[in-house]
Amino acid sequence: MKKLLTLALLVLLTNVAARAQAFDRKKADSLLITNGEIYFSFRFFDRKELDFLTNIISLDKVRGDEVFAFANRKEFDKFCKLGYDIKILTPPGSLLGNKDLMKPEGIINSNGPAAWNFYPTYQQYLDTMHYFSTAYPSLCKLDTIGTTTAGRLLLAVRISRNVNIDAAKPRFLYTSSIHGNETTGYVGMLHLIEYLLTNYGTIPQVTRLVDSVEIFINPLANPDGTYHGGNNTVNGSTRYNANGVDLNRNYPDPGYGPHPDGNSWQPETIAFMNYADSRGFTMSANFHGGNEVFNYPWDTWSRLTADNNWWYYVGREFADTIHKYGPSGYFTDEQNGVTDGYAWYYVHGGRQDYMNYFHGCREVTVELSSAFVLPASELVSYFNYDYHSYLNYIEQTLYGIHGIVTDTATGLPLYAKLTVLNHDMDSSIVYSRMPTGFYDRVIDQGTWSLMFSCPGYHTKTINSVTVTRLHGIHLDVQLKSIYYGTGDMNQGELTIYPVPASREIHLVFPETESKKWKLDVLNILGVSMYSAEIVNSGQLVYNLDVTSYAAGMYFIRLSNENGIYRKQVVVRH
Ligand SMILES: [Zn+2]
Repeated sequence: MKKLLTLALLVLLTNVAARAQAFDRKKADSLLITNGEIYFSFRFFDRKELDFLTNIISLDKVRGDEVFAFANRKEFDKFCKLGYDIKILTPPGSLLGNKDLMKPEGIINSNGPAAWNFYPTYQQYLDTMHYFSTAYPSLCKLDTIGTTTAGRLLLAVRISRNVNIDAAKPRFLYTSSIHGNETTGYVGMLHLIEYLLTNYGTIPQVTRLVDSVEIFINPLANPDGTYHGGNNTVNGSTRYNANGVDLNRNYPDPGYGPHPDGNSWQPETIAFMNYADSRGFTMSANFHGGNEVFNYPWDTWSRLTADNNWWYYVGREFADTIHKYGPSGYFTDEQNGVTDGYAWYYVHGGRQDYMNYFHGCREVTVELSSAFVLPASELVSYFNYDYHSYLNYIEQTLYGIHGIVTDTATGLPLYAKLTVLNHDMDSSIVYSRMPTGFYDRVIDQGTWSLMFSCPGYHTKTINSVTVTRLHGIHLDVQLKSIYYGTGDMNQGELTIYPVPASREIHLVFPETESKKWKLDVLNILGVSMYSAEIVNSGQLVYNLDVTSYAAGMYFIRLSNENGIYRKQVVVRH
C-alpha cells in the first residue's frame, strides 16, 4: 500500500515537474522580438483541450498527441500560464538559407517569366503580375484587392476569354499564402497563371476553362509575412501579418461571431471581404503549407455541410489526381490526403468557413507540402504534381446546375435565391449574381428540387432535376412579377416623342386610370439603363432624361398588372 502511494506521488510529481519544465525564455523573447511570433510544440492529454486552445494560440497541426502552434507575444504569455511543457522550434520561414531560395537575376525577360525554380523578390512579383496583364490584354486583367498593413499590394489576376466583359460565367478564386511562411502555392499560382495564358488555344482543358470560367488568382495573400525578412528574400518569412495577427483566424465565424480571435479586422481581411462581396465567387481554394491535405468545411463545427458528399468526392479527386502524378507518400496526410476540417483540428475565424457561410462560396483549405518553405529547386516538381488537380478543381464550377434568372415580362436579370429543397442548410443556398442574373449551384449527383425566389416575384419550384457527375446542367429560369401582368398590350396606346430624342423622351401614359407601373429602359445589349416604379393619376406625361445616354437604340418597357407595353426609341446627340 505504501509502495503504491509512493508511486502515485512520484507520478504526480513527475507530471508537475514535466509541466513546470522551463523552456529557453531568452530564445523565446528574441524570436518574438525578431519575428513577432514564435513556433513551438507541446503534448495534450485530451483532445477536448484543443477546442479551448484554438482560441488562445494558432494551431498549425496535430500529430498524434503532439500539437504544433504559432503565437504572438500576447497569445504566448497567455498560453505559458497553462503550464504545458513547451518545445520551442526553429521558425519554419528561416530553415533554409538564401541560396536555397532566391536567384539574383530577374525572372522576367522579353518573353515573360523565364523559370519557376526560385522565389521572386517582391518587386519581381509585382513586375510578373503586371507582365501577365500587359502581355495578354484580352485574357488577363490585373486587380488590386487592397493594401497591406505595411503598404504592400494585394493583387489578383482575372483570366477569361473577353476578360473585360462582365459575362454570365462562374467565378472562381485561387488564393495562396495567407500564412506568409507557407510559400509552395505562392510560386505555384504564378506558374499556374503562366500555364493558363500560354496554353490557351492549345490544351483543350485550359481553353475550355478560360472560355467558360472567370478565373481569379491571388498568389500572395500576406506579402508582409512572406517578405518579413525584406523585399529581396522569403528567408525569414512569418505566418502572421505585420501586426502579428494570424489572418486565417481573423474572419467572422459562423459560430463564434465577428471577431473570434479578439482582434479587429486587419486591412488584409477587410480587403478580401470587400473583394468577395464585389465578385461573388462560386468556388475557391486557399493554399497553405506545413501539411499535405485537402481540408474541407466546416473547421468550426462538428456537423457536416449539406454538400458533404460533394466535398468528399471533389477532395478525393484532388488528392487521387496528385497521387497519380506525384511521388508515393506525397499528399497523404489524414485520410490519404482528404479530411473534414473539424475532424482534424478546430479553427475559428478561418477564411474557409467565412467564405462558405457568408458568401455561399465553396472554399477549401489545401495544404500543399509538408515543408513550409520548399527549397526553390523543388518548386517545379511540386507544380507538376499538383497542376492537374488545380485545373480539375476549377472545372468543377462547370458541373452541377447553372443558368440565368430573369423577369418573365421584361427579360431583365434578377437577383434571386436558389434553395435546394430537403437539402440546403447552414447557409448553403446560393444567389444569382448581378448584373447578369447568372447563378451556379455546384452539387453532387442526385435528383433535386430547386426553388427560385425573389422579393416581388412568384416563387417557382422545379422538381426532378437530375445531376450526374462531370456534367453541367444549363437551366434558365423566368420568374413572374406579382405586380405586373405579362400579356402584350395594344402597343399603339403608348405614345413616345420626340423620335429621335437628344435630351428628354416624353412618355404619354396609355391609361388614365390610376395604376402602379414599372418602367424599364434597356440598351441594345439588354443592359438596364433605368428602372422606376411610377403611379399615375389621370393623364401622365413622364419625362425621361437621356442626356447621359450614348447615341443609339433603346427599348422602353412599361408594365402594369394587366400587361406590358414595349417601344423602341432612338437617342441622337
Ligand atoms: Zn497555413
